[in-house]
This record gives sequence, C-alpha cells and structure tokens, in this order.
Amino acid sequence: MRLSQFPIFTTKETPADAEIVSHQLMLRTGMIRRVAAGLYSWMPLGLRVLHKVSTIVREEMNRAGCVEMLMPSIQPVELWQESGRINAYGRELLRIQDRHDRDFCYGPTHEEVVTSHFRQEFHSYRQLPINLYQIQTKFRDEIRPRFGVMRAREFLMKDGYSFHMDEAGLDEGYQRMRSAYSRVFERCGLEYRIVVADAGQIGGSGSEEFHVLAEAGEDLLAVSSEGSYAANVEAAVCSAPAASRSAPGAAMEKVETPTQKTIAELSDFLGVAPSQCLKTLLVVGSDGHPVVLLLRGDHELNEIKAEKHPLIAEPLQMASDAQIEQVFGAPAGFIGPVGINAPIVADHAALAMADFVCGANQNGWHLQQVNWERDLPLPQAADLRIIAAGDPSPDGKGTVSLVRGIEVGHIFKLGDKYSKAMNVTVLDEGGKSHTPIMGTYGIGVSRIVGAAIEQHNDDKGICWPTPLAPFTLALLPINPGKSERVRETTEQLYTALLERGIDVVIDDRGLRPGVMFADIELIGIPHRVVIGDRGLEAGTLEYKARRDAESRDIDNSLEAILDAIS
Ligand code: ATP
Ligand code: MG
Repeated sequence: MRLSQFPIFTTKETPADAEIVSHQLMLRTGMIRRVAAGLYSWMPLGLRVLHKVSTIVREEMNRAGCVEMLMPSIQPVELWQESGRINAYGRELLRIQDRHDRDFCYGPTHEEVVTSHFRQEFHSYRQLPINLYQIQTKFRDEIRPRFGVMRAREFLMKDGYSFHMDEAGLDEGYQRMRSAYSRVFERCGLEYRIVVADAGQIGGSGSEEFHVLAEAGEDLLAVSSEGSYAANVEAAVCSAPAASRSAPGAAMEKVETPTQKTIAELSDFLGVAPSQCLKTLLVVGSDGHPVVLLLRGDHELNEIKAEKHPLIAEPLQMASDAQIEQVFGAPAGFIGPVGINAPIVADHAALAMADFVCGANQNGWHLQQVNWERDLPLPQAADLRIIAAGDPSPDGKGTVSLVRGIEVGHIFKLGDKYSKAMNVTVLDEGGKSHTPIMGTYGIGVSRIVGAAIEQHNDDKGICWPTPLAPFTLALLPINPGKSERVRETTEQLYTALLERGIDVVIDDRGLRPGVMFADIELIGIPHRVVIGDRGLEAGTLEYKARRDAESRDIDNSLEAILDAIS
C-alpha cells in the first residue's frame, strides 16, 4: 500500500468528547468517525484492523469445527414472541415497522433466528453436534453509548450457537469454544482473564466471560489472591462469615440523630464504624408488595443477585417514598427492621452483626445496641451484596482483589431455554423425539480493536500487537523527490517485501521527515525503515521498532529488514 493512495486522517488535537485513550487515539488516527451517538464509520485505516481481528476469529472458529453462515440483521418480532424474550430484553431492542406495518427489530443477538433455522433444517441426532456462527453487525439501543466502538449502538460481533443431544455433549462443545476463544485473544496479543459471569438476559446455566485487563474497563472483576477463582463482581458469590455472631451487650436504646440520614453521617455522629450500622432498603417484591433488604453499612447491594431472589421483582425496582412511609411509618434515612410487618431478606453479613445501629422508624431517631433474636427475630438470609476487595475468596484461598476488565467475549451453556420455547425436536437413536440443548458464544469483534489500544499505547500513540496492526512495516523515504537513489531503493524493497508476504506500506506523501515519523508512530505501525541518501552512501538503512527508544542502522538489504522485523 502507498499512503499517497490510501488516505489517513490523523490529527494532533485530542478530541474533547473522547474520555478514554483508545477512543481518543481511534479518532486522532482517523480509524473511525462518528456518524451519530454510538454509530461509527470505520475509515480505511480502522477497517484494516477490524479485518485483522475478524480473520483471526474466523480462522480459530473454523479450526474448532464451527461452520460459518450469515443471518439478516433485521428480524421479525414474532420470533421474539415465540421465545418469550420480547419483554425481558427491554428498550435495547430497536423495533421497526415495514411498509405493511409488520413488526421487526434490529437484531441485538441471534438465538431466535438460528433456532428457527435449526428447527427447519435439522431433524436427526446424526446431524449433531453442530456449531453455527456468523460475524455480523448487531444493534443495541444502549442507554449510554460511550467510549467509541467499545460501547457503541451498532457493532460487529461474532456470534455462535451450538446444538447438542445431551449435557455431556454441551460440556464438550463449551470447553472446545473456551479453548478456541482463548486462542483468539492470545493471537490478538491481549492480556486477558476468564471469569465466572452472570448469565443475564440470555438465560441458562453456566457462563464465563473473557476480559481484557485495562483500567478503562467498565467491569470490575474479583480475583483470588491465592486460588484460581475469578468472577465478574456481578456474579461473585459472597460466602457467609465464618465467625459466629458475638453475644449481645447492653440493652437496645433510642438515640436522637436529628439530621443524620446516611451511613457516613451516622457513623461520624455516633462514633461507630459503618460496619456497625445496618443499611435498610425497600424494594418491590415479586408479588408487587414491598420487601425489606438489609445489608451491613459498609456493603453495597448487588442488584443482579437481589433480583434473582424469588421474593424480589426482576428487574430490581426501589420502592417509592410513599411505600417507605407505609411500611416503616418514617422517611428514608431513619428506617430499620425493628417492629415492622413486611417480608425481610438480609444479607449473610448483616446477620452476623451484633450491637448494631439501625433506624428507629421515627423521623430524627436511630436505635443502637440492637441484637438479632433478642430485639427482633432473625429474618431469612441471602447473598445480596457486592463482593469487596479484601473479602475472603469464595474458593477459600486467600482474599479477593478487584481489577478492571473490558468484556470481549462471553460463553454460555443455554440448556433447553430456546429449543423448548420454540418447539425444536430431533429424532434420537431410538427414533424418539428429543429436545436438543444449546450453547451460545459471542466475541465483540469491534470492541477488541478499542480494548487492544487500551492495553497497547504510549505518549506517542498506538503500539499495535503485530497481528492486529493495520500495516506491519512502514518504509519511509527521505526526500525521494530529490534523490533518485532513495526512490529506487524504496521501490525495490517495497516490491521484494510484498513478494515475501509482508504487509508493508510506503509513506510517499512527500511530507517532512518529522511529520511523517510522528504520523507513523501515532498510528502504531510496529516496524519502520527509513531510507535516506546518507545511509545509502554507507550501505545502511535506519530501523526502529515502535517500542524501541532509539533507531539503529541495518544493512541495506531485504534480509537485514526481514531479520529486524522477525
Ligand atoms: P456488556 O455487559 O458489555 O453490555 P453484554 O454482556 O450485553 O455486554 P453479550 O450479549 O455477552 O454482551 O455480547 C457478546 C459480546 O459482544 C460482548 O462480550 C461484548 O464484547 C460485545 N458487545 C456487547 N455489547 C456491545 C456494545 N454495545 N458495543 C460493542 N461491543 C459490544
Ligand atoms: Mg455478556
């Protein structure tokens, strides 16, 4: 490729609306351009990188025995009614109508469509297992699109779906995908971690996520200091405290707290630790009536765990001020579980508290030295809180620390959720009708591009891992207009490198060397070779890897270049 014929759109200025470095660099290098919120065009330079990621993904899926197909991005809403997911998916599903007023949606994922094809085309156990995948554009009407292509509304995903006769088959297919995904991220040159995940909207049992470790990640991961446990905090289990509750001390008493409503204000005012204060929340229950949730004051509610509790409505919804008044007879800030008549669910850690502080259900008052079983009955226990740094690791090995990750892949064992809802059957060996079970697997192809930059950049720009780089090597001729020798050497090297299969680009835009070097560093080409008259006189070229501090002279030969970039 020649940059005179391949437009790149670099800028020096950091765009004001880009919060994180990958988004800034993708705009500064001109890889992408925004069309509307969460909608981006991939400019020629960016598209080369996106294609490199897709190629790696495709090669690894094919190697693992998956079969590629392509489904439409627009889907009929009837399929979503059949699966029963139409309401659960909510407003991220962009719905549209055609000229006949028929309802369609822009596919955020393709379980329904692939299952309907399977139902039509597959009839016998002999055709299983099968793993069908596509690399295709998805649309999700994200409430807060941000970070450029990392949380876009339209994005490129590899999505795959497997069908099996039984649990053992699904386990095997799932493990094969887990290894194939690991190979994808290794080949992309990314530092990643596999973590236990919440199965979310898609449903089913057993799921893991692949996260690229980066400070800008939106997800928090809990990782064990000594064991192999790693989970998205959304899914991380908090075990019940090992130590038993200490014995009650002095009698319960009321204390005036005129304006102290938050745990922080209360603990300051009374001189007790936040962990000695009880946090009381009111949410909507699954039967529509309010349910009280209790947590230790220094703990936070994990909404995803809470809404899975049978007593609690999904999605989680906080109760109104009026409902709070009704249940407690007091406003938020002064509420507690003593003497109330409503169902209560308490986090394990809240039940381990003794001599604690909680609201007195009277405006301006709290209770202190409150104790379970003495002052109020023990409520039912559940795991409701977000795991915190320093908590014991759920695998019993050491403690957990929290790191940030960008979710780039997700694998699920779905079970029969879709095959059952959509009446899919195949004949088993005995000729009996049998419901197959499914797995579903996704990779955020476009998100990987952003995630890779987040992990690989410096103050000069992007430092691509070679497998993802838009070009592997840049040839930079100095004043080619004035030197026939520079021009000819560059052309000869270019042709020879192309013949060797090297992804090489010549910067023949005729720019000053400084500008040219800055551009090539900004767009992160892993290797550069400078061809100048002075070097050629001495029989040398100047080589520099993107990560090197200094350039060095190498022989003016194809072999010397191949050696340097290997
Ligand atoms: P997230 O939790 O980040 O919203 P998700 O769990 O909803 O993602 P999945 O349904 O698991 O996403 O989709 C598979 C993959 O698609 C994700 O692992 C992620 O890499 C990618 N992806 C999901 N949403 C987006 C988005 N808005 N922009 C870019 N990539 C996305
Ligand atoms: Mg996911």
